[in-house]
Amino acid sequence: MDQLKELERIAKSSLPNESCAFLLGNGQQQDNKIVIAEILPIKNVRASYASFEIPPDELLRAYDYAEQKRVQITGIFHSHPAPPSPSRTDIRFMEINPVVWVIYSTTERRFAAWVFEEIVREVAMV
Ligand SMILES: [Zn+2]
Repeated sequence: MDQLKELERIAKSSLPNESCAFLLGNGQQQDNKIVIAEILPIKNVRASYASFEIPPDELLRAYDYAEQKRVQITGIFHSHPAPPSPSRTDIRFMEINPVVWVIYSTTERRFAAWVFEEIVREVAMV
């Protein structure tokens, strides 16, 4: 998949910092796989090797762009200088942004994709 090569390139060119990008698609999943139509690289304002931060105006810009192009932000990509598993901070942000989270490990040179699926449960009203 060419998109994965592109994400790998973004991750490597951002070293030693973590890189991040929005993944755009048509919102449909094929056989439970994420379909990446376009990659929108985002500047990691934290310029850190251990974390990333997407500035709110970049987030708004990405949503505007997606709306214009009639596509959806179906995933968030970032890289790790460690195994491609979500960190505790990642999990917190995954809860806020329940899209597919794609992580590339620059040390293990492999991708992993994650979703946060919260169980919906009814609560009592007093
Ligand atoms: Zn992370």
